[in-house]
Amino acid sequence: MSPATEDTECRPDSGTDTGIGTGIKIGHALRDARTLLRDISTTPQLDAEILLGHVLKATRSRLRTRLDEHLDADHGQRFSALLARRVRGEPIAHLTGEREFWSLPLHVTRDTLIPRPETEHLVEVALVHLTPDRDLRAADLGTGSGAIALALAKERPRCRILASDISQAALAVARDNARRLGLANVEFRHGHWCSTLSGEAFDLITSNPPYVRRGDARMKQDGLQFEPELALIAGESGLESLHTVITQAWRYLRVGGMLVVEHGFDQAQTVFDLFASCGYDDITAYKDLAGLPRGVFGRRSSPYTVRAAPR
Ligand code: GLN
Repeated sequence: MSPATEDTECRPDSGTDTGIGTGIKIGHALRDARTLLRDISTTPQLDAEILLGHVLKATRSRLRTRLDEHLDADHGQRFSALLARRVRGEPIAHLTGEREFWSLPLHVTRDTLIPRPETEHLVEVALVHLTPDRDLRAADLGTGSGAIALALAKERPRCRILASDISQAALAVARDNARRLGLANVEFRHGHWCSTLSGEAFDLITSNPPYVRRGDARMKQDGLQFEPELALIAGESGLESLHTVITQAWRYLRVGGMLVVEHGFDQAQTVFDLFASCGYDDITAYKDLAGLPRGVFGRRSSPYTVRAAPR
C-alpha cells in the first residue's frame, strides 16, 4: 500500500511494506499484524503490541485502551516498515533498540548480544557472592551491552565493577547505558578477556562469553544471524572462549574470590571439568528457568598458581 518511508527506523534495505497500518483502527492493525507474524514468531500478539507501542510511544496497556483510534499515515507507515523487518526475522530488540534486563531498560544495537532472560540467573548467583556490606571489586568480561555489569552495579552501589569487551562498538553501547542509568560505579575497558584486568585482584569475575559452535544449525534460527558473531561463536567446539576465561581468571581472583560463567545447555560437564582441572573449589552448576544447565561457578581457595587446563 504505502511505500517505505524515510523513517530512521527503516533501513534502506528494508524496502518492502506489509500494507498494514495506515488509516485503520489500532485494534485492526494489531489483529492484522498478529496474523502476519504468526508464522515467524512464537509471540505474534506481543510482538505486534511492542512494535506499535514503540511507534506510538505508548505502553502496551495504554495501547489496549486506544483500540478504536485510527492510525495516522506516519505512524501507520512506520509500523508497517517495522513489521516488514520483523517478518524477515529481525529480533524485536533491534527494531525497538531496547531490551529490558534485570528491570533495567538497556539500549542494544547490532554490535551487542541481546541480553537473554537466562543470564539474569548469572546475576542472581553473582550477587550471593557480592555481599552488599563491603567495598568489593568485580569484573565482567565480554560485557556487550553491559547487562551483567550494570545489574551488579545497580544492586551493589558500594562495589566497583570493571567491564571489558574486545568490541569498541559494544563498549560504546555499554558506556551509554551506564550514563543513561546514572550508574557511576562501573568502569569500561577495551581488550581481550583478562588482559584488561592486569595488576588487580577481584572478589568476583563474571562472564557470558560466546559459546555457540561454528556451523551450529541454530545460527540460522531465532534471529541469531542478526546478532554479532563475535558475541556468539567460539570456534569449532564452542568452548574456546570459556576455556580462555576459566584458565585466565584464576590469576586475577583474590583467594576466596569466585568465577561465574554462563554456558550452552550441553556444555555443563565439560565446563565443570574445566573448573576442576584448573584447581577451583566449591564448583557448582546452576540451571536456567527452563531447567537446562546454564552456568557454573567456582572459588579460588588456594593461593598457589593455577594448573593449566588441558585443551
Ligand atoms: N544464550 C545465547 C543463545 O544461545 C548465546 C549467548 C552466548 O553465546 N553467550 O542464543
